[in-house]
Order: sequence, then C-alpha cells, then structure tokens
Amino acid sequence: MHAKVTGFEVFCLELEHSKNDQNPHFTDVTEELLKSETKRDQILTDLQQTIISGWPNNKQHLATNLRPFWTFREELSIHNGIIYKGQQVLVPQSMYSTMLDKIHANHFGAESNIRMAREVLFWPGMRKGMRKAISDMCDTCGVCAQYSRTLTKEPMKLLPIPTQPWQIVSQDIFTHGQKDYLVTVCHFSDWIEVDKLQDTLSATVINKTKAHFAWFGIPEMCHTDNGSQFASKEYEDFATQYGFKHTTSSPYHPRGNGRAEAAIKVAKTTLKKSTDLQSALLNYMNTLPQGLTYSPAQRLLCRRTRTTLPTPNHLLKPSPVNLAVVTQELTLKRAASLLYVKPPPTQRCQP
Ligand SMILES: [Zn+2]
Repeated sequence: MHAKVTGFEVFCLELEHSKNDQNPHFTDVTEELLKSETKRDQILTDLQQTIISGWPNNKQHLATNLRPFWTFREELSIHNGIIYKGQQVLVPQSMYSTMLDKIHANHFGAESNIRMAREVLFWPGMRKGMRKAISDMCDTCGVCAQYSRTLTKEPMKLLPIPTQPWQIVSQDIFTHGQKDYLVTVCHFSDWIEVDKLQDTLSATVINKTKAHFAWFGIPEMCHTDNGSQFASKEYEDFATQYGFKHTTSSPYHPRGNGRAEAAIKVAKTTLKKSTDLQSALLNYMNTLPQGLTYSPAQRLLCRRTRTTLPTPNHLLKPSPVNLAVVTQELTLKRAASLLYVKPPPTQRCQP
C-alpha cells in the first residue's frame, strides 16, 4: 500500500498541540508581535521603505540610522510585514530581550541557545550583547545546568533550512493497528509519504525509500533516528551508493526528529479517521495551510493536483513557486518553534 499525507495536517496538529499547552497559537502570536513591533520601530519602518524603493548607489546618501544595514543590504527582504536578513528574522529593538527570553525558555544551556539565536535571529550589533545576555540567563538557571549536563555528549544540532523541494527529508517508523509503517517527509514542502511495511528490516525500508527517490529524486540529506533499520550497515551503504548524506538524531534529544514525529501524528490521525485514506490525503495535499503561501503539492510539484472538488483547468497547470518565499516561511516557522516554550523532560524552570 502506498499512501500520501500532506503537511496541512502536520500544521493542524502542531497548532492543536500548541492549543493544549500554555501558549495557545504561539506561532501566530510571535508572528503578529514581530509584525506590529516592526511597524512601530521607526528605523525598521524606514528600512522597509528603502528595501521597497531601492538602495542608493552610495552609502553616504543613506540616512544615518540605516547605515548599519548597508553592508548586508543585498540579503535583506520583506515578507508579510517582517524583515529578514537571509534566513534570519530581523528583530525590532523592543523585542531583543523578549526573543532572548523565549530562546532561553528551551533550557538547552548557553551554547545551544547562542547557536539557536544566531541561526534564527538578527539585529545590528547582536553579537556584542547577545552572548553575554544568554550566558547570564543560563548560568544562573538550575534547569539549564542540569539539562546541559545530560546533553553534554549530544550538543543540539539544527538541520539546515532547505531552499528547494525534496532537498532534505526525514524518515521514521511507526506502528498503527499492529501494522508497521514507514513515513518519509520533505522538509521544504511538508509532503508526506506513508508506506505499510511487511517488516521493519533495513532491506524493506530501503526498498520503499528507493521508490520515493525514483519519483522525486535523491535528496541531499536524509535524517532519521537511531532505529536499527537506519543505524545498520545496509542503510549506510544505501546512502553511499545513492550519494546522500544520512544524519541521525540523538535518542536523548527531545526534538531530534521533530519533522518525522509530526508527520507520524498526521499519518496516524488520517489512518484512524479516513475510510478512503488516499482521497482524504489528496485533499489535504492541495489545501493551503494558514499563514503559508503554497500548498504542499505546489511546493513539491509546482502545481495543484486534481481532486474530487471542481477545479478550473487553468489552476491545474504548472506555475512557478517563489522558493525564497517558502524558505522565509520555513525560517519563521522554525524561529517560532524554537521559541515555543517547551519544558524540559522532568521539570519546569521558575521564571
Ligand atoms: Zn534555563
């Protein structure tokens, strides 16, 4: 059996999950706050206007308050009212400490938090104060100290944000109704492939995976956990032979393979609910998730696919997808998920 699920449900489930926690709609709240504070920030408002109207030929022709942005002006862009430097969110001054507090709330210890902040956030002169601010917070925090000791051997690594479809995928195994399934999810499009497995041996998993690579090409990177079928020599040989990088997550890291875990939730929910799995998934694949510009089908295939709902023919024709927009949305999603407060496994830190 071969089934397809989409990122729409991943998105819904993430939202559902966040509703049950203490920060409902955190993603939306962060985005809205960034947007409104960017609007209230005079320098960033001027900067937005300059990005839109174009930069002068000479730095001297630029207003003094915008000169700190001159050297990386080519990297700046605006999406949905938020300014980005490459893949980093440009944080309004009023939110510097708020964002660092949110980074710290993960309690992964100073070094992990500093890496995280550098990956997703930016403001001019950030390097100066940021390291000290985060170090001070983590050094005086008991939860960070305890958590850092647990994770010393397995420092937090963030997977790169993809810039094109099927560049980075994650895989995992799950069981539903006493049957085993393989899930494969594309980090760029949230497109999910679900395979029913006869067994969970490496050879079986590799065979299913080869079929997906035949359809969509070989990804640059495939991320899995340390399950026996992935940690095997057979899987490593497969990676070498096909020429993709195989990375694995630590069993101790709570977000080691978050994308695959989210995809599994989607797959399980769909298997539970739908009598016609394929049809249900086809609809999701063509549904535009809230806050995103393209559906999973558009992000992966550059087109909508025909469903049982009437769709005008012209909408089914291939149409270019703005890859930069997708990457920016992924960046914001990552920033939000990193900043989304999750307590460490055993206890919650007192603020
Ligand atoms: Zn802490």
